[in-house]
Amino acid sequence: MKKNIANWGNYPVVASDDQSFSWKEDLPGLLENRTHIIPRGNGRCYGDASLAQNTITCTKLEKVLSFDTTAGILDCEAGLTLDKILEIIVPKGWFLPVTPGTKFITIGGGVASDVHGKNHHVDGAISRHVVEMDIYTAKLGLVTCSREKYPDLFEATCGGMGLTGVITRVKFKLKKIETSYITQKQVKAKNLTDVLELFDQYAHYTYSVAWIDCLKKGKAFGRSILILGEHTKLDELKDKRKNDPLALPKKKQLTFPFNLPSWVLNTITVKLFNFLYYNKNTKRELNNIVSYEPFFYPLDAILHWNRGYGKKGFIQYQFVLPMERRDGLERILSEISKRGWGSFLAVLKVFGDQDDLISFPTKGYTLALDFPVRKGLFEFLDEMDKIVLECGGRLYLSKDARMKPETLRQGYDRFDEFVGILRQYDPEQKFRSIQSDRLQITTN
Ligand SMILES: Cc1cc2nc3c(=O)[nH]c(=O)nc-3n(C[C@H](O)[C@H](O)[C@H](O)COP(=O)(O)OP(=O)(O)OC[C@H]3O[C@@H](n4cnc5c(N)ncnc54)[C@H](O)[C@@H]3O)c2cc1C
Repeated sequence: MKKNIANWGNYPVVASDDQSFSWKEDLPGLLENRTHIIPRGNGRCYGDASLAQNTITCTKLEKVLSFDTTAGILDCEAGLTLDKILEIIVPKGWFLPVTPGTKFITIGGGVASDVHGKNHHVDGAISRHVVEMDIYTAKLGLVTCSREKYPDLFEATCGGMGLTGVITRVKFKLKKIETSYITQKQVKAKNLTDVLELFDQYAHYTYSVAWIDCLKKGKAFGRSILILGEHTKLDELKDKRKNDPLALPKKKQLTFPFNLPSWVLNTITVKLFNFLYYNKNTKRELNNIVSYEPFFYPLDAILHWNRGYGKKGFIQYQFVLPMERRDGLERILSEISKRGWGSFLAVLKVFGDQDDLISFPTKGYTLALDFPVRKGLFEFLDEMDKIVLECGGRLYLSKDARMKPETLRQGYDRFDEFVGILRQYDPEQKFRSIQSDRLQITTN
């Protein structure tokens, strides 16, 4: 029976026959005689990437197969979520090599989006740390692939948005930690030039991210807080935390109870939020030690915060521009401030080199912005797309719900190679999503 499902942006909502499975042996039966299928993790992508007429939810496929606590290698089923992985690995002195801003994603969904964290300039995206994985493909059934075995399938799966088939198992390398804490530095930047200079100055930090107040005009245009971090060393812990250095954070979660009416988010409320956030630190620089949870996952503390954008949902617009095109950032931010269409969330990061053929991160600056769905938004974002492309940038498929096919083709220079590999492993285009049809990656 079909039911209405949506991803984190609550746009679009699609009627789907959603099936799930706990044993990989059940998968062939679920795929037989069905077309227009897309694998689905925890629905934490924002748009339509894991939506289709038929979806295969993988969250019950969540067994740990082995954990080498000496070498730091975890072998697990693809539906295991990062929050469960952290509970297993942190007490043993290991951490995720790369984590997005929420821990409520599956590892399979993470590889399919090739997710990045605040350390892309140092550690790359998640797929750089994958040793091997199993994928159920339309043509060959279950295939174990790595950078050596079926390298084309491996590469097209990293960031391939579920279109190569269902990932059932991921074996990946972890990062050694001495404590579960982060030594954090926050630096206030007066404007965009200041924050970009600060990113250069602190490029040696493993983790970096800036929150930007994108409504400010004039001299304070682009004022921000740069947040930097390193895993805390044991000898840096001074208080009672030293007795249990690998302690898991205590669970404290609020739930956003209902969809807010769409008028609640307007220029005045966003300006007020930005004012309070920017002025929460009175000093220019703040140094402290915090648990990994508020550092990596501040938004997870409020479950269902996406309801704050109202019933019509919202779009997260994330793009990357080459390092030398800082002017593109200025142009986009000034268009936003001119319109007064500020976003609560405006997050700036720096990326290192691109790893895989369709992976989003490529060397440069990436900015993510939230906009509630409303009249005129898509036309506005089409204009922003033009600036992104003119500057040699691209958009993130995992956040997308509205880009045009030509925007994708122009942004990703190895697009044709990607499609060639898809056709090789899925000649009849069994795996397809609302997104892949919209973007003409899959065609009739
Ligand atoms: C609050 C928040 C913060 C975020 N921060 C970041 C960030 O910092 N960096 C970043 O990169 N992303 C970020 N994201 C996006 C998120 O990490 C990705 O969208 C991730 O892919 C979601 O995984 P999921 O398990 O929920 O999968 P879904 O959202 O269900 O699916 C995502 C994609 O993966 C495919 N997929 C899922 N499971 C499988 C499988 N088993 N086999 C094959 N394909 C599969 C789907 O077909 C789809 O294309 C954030 C999202 C939220 C909500």
